[in-house]
Amino acid sequence: MIDHTIQTRIENAARACGRDGASVQLVAVSKTQPEEKIDAALRAGLCVFGENRVQEAQKRWTARRADYPDLSLHLIGPLQTNKVADAVALFDVIETVDRPKLAHALAAEMRAQNRALPCFIQVNTGDEAQKAGCSVADLPGLLQLCRDLGLNITGLMCIPPVQDDPAPHFRLLRDLAERHDLPCLSMGMSADFETAIAHGATHVRVGSALFGARG
Ligand SMILES: *Cc1c(COP(=O)(O)O)cnc(C)c1O
Repeated sequence: MIDHTIQTRIENAARACGRDGASVQLVAVSKTQPEEKIDAALRAGLCVFGENRVQEAQKRWTARRADYPDLSLHLIGPLQTNKVADAVALFDVIETVDRPKLAHALAAEMRAQNRALPCFIQVNTGDEAQKAGCSVADLPGLLQLCRDLGLNITGLMCIPPVQDDPAPHFRLLRDLAERHDLPCLSMGMSADFETAIAHGATHVRVGSALFGARG
């Protein structure tokens, strides 16, 4: 039910560019997948999952947490400020910080809940009007604001435009992370995670290749 070759493909892609497979974390994107596939993934030992909606993730994961203490949940979808309290309570990593208002809300909520979650800034590398993520031009200012607010920004995340060759976007994200001393890079999905690893991805977000097509 779960495609066990994904972890092997990650390790092979890492080795092919002289990296250690352990330097790439598989984030299993479980959004909209049926419950039995989630349970199969947990039984197979996967423990890092990505969800793009706060409420759907709450329903799915709140009870399972008790049985899987090693679980790590990444929010990979856009976050509205009215859901920040629930997101901070549930998730372990927020990958989609993309604007000052959200940074302020997250910092305040993490203080209130006494939870210091690692965060990524999502960068809209394709400058797509409708897509979430801060522009490349706004990144330095947003990063400085996050740091001033005490947010623990560990890396950058991107979703390249579907019609583009993803490689230049991965290269750009890597350059930006290096320039700003950020160690983590969340990039690469089912169709392109091996390319992303060749460009330095530390986190690959894989859904359909792992679980099958979403319903
Ligand atoms: C759905 C989603 C993925 C996984 O996509 P697949 O192509 O199914 O691997 C990765 N990242 C984000 C942000 C997503 O929303």
